[in-house]
Amino acid sequence: MKQSIVFATGNSHKLQEINEIAKGTGIEFVLPPDSFNPNENGTTFEENSLIKAQEASRLSKMISLADDSGLCVEALNGAPGIYSARYADSPQERIDKLLSVLKDTDNRNAKFVCAMTLVDKNGNILFQTRGECFGQIAYKQSGVNGFGYDPVFLTKDTDYKQTMAEMSEEEKNKISHRGRALRKVLEFLNTKK
Ligand code: IMP
Repeated sequence: MKQSIVFATGNSHKLQEINEIAKGTGIEFVLPPDSFNPNENGTTFEENSLIKAQEASRLSKMISLADDSGLCVEALNGAPGIYSARYADSPQERIDKLLSVLKDTDNRNAKFVCAMTLVDKNGNILFQTRGECFGQIAYKQSGVNGFGYDPVFLTKDTDYKQTMAEMSEEEKNKISHRGRALRKVLEFLNTKK
C-alpha cells in the first residue's frame, strides 16, 4: 500500500514534479486542504519550508513535507532568493526584470536552492535538508518546459549549453535542486520503514 504524505504547496506543477521523482518508492504526495495559506514570513529558505510544513500538518493532521525554493544570483548578492516568487508580478515579468538588471553584468553565476522540511502530524521536525543546482543566467531566454526562471537558467551539469526549460522533465529532475533535496528526504523515509 502506498504511504501518502502531504506536500505543502498550492503549485500543482511542483506536486507533479516531486511525484515523478518519487515514482517507484511507494510514497505518494498529495495536496494539502484548500484552506492551506501559510504566512511565509521566514528569513531563510529553511524557515519558510518549516512554516509551510507545519501549516500543512496542522490542517491535514498528516505527515507533511514542504519545500521553499528560489534563485540566488551572485552579482545580486543572492537576490531574488527567498523573494523569487515575488520579484515581479508574472513569470515573464520576473524573467524580463532579471535580464534587464543583469544586462551589463558579466558575472552570470547563479544557483537554485531548495530547502525541504518534513514534519510529523503534530508539526515536529523529522528531517530537514537542502539541495542546490549551480548554473548561469543566460543573456536571453530559451525553451518552453518547466516553470519560473527555467528559460534563463543554464545548468553547469550541461556545461551551460542548455537552459532548464530546454530539458525534459526527467533530465531536470536528475540535476535539479528539488530533485537533489527530495532524494535525501526519500532516503530518510526509507531508513524509517
Ligand atoms: P516557492 O514556491 O515559495 O518555493 O517559490 C519559489 C519560486 O522560485 C518560484 O515561484 C520560481 O519563481 C522560483 N523557482 C523555484 N524552483 C524553480 C525551478 O525549478 N525552476 C524555475 N524557477 C524556480
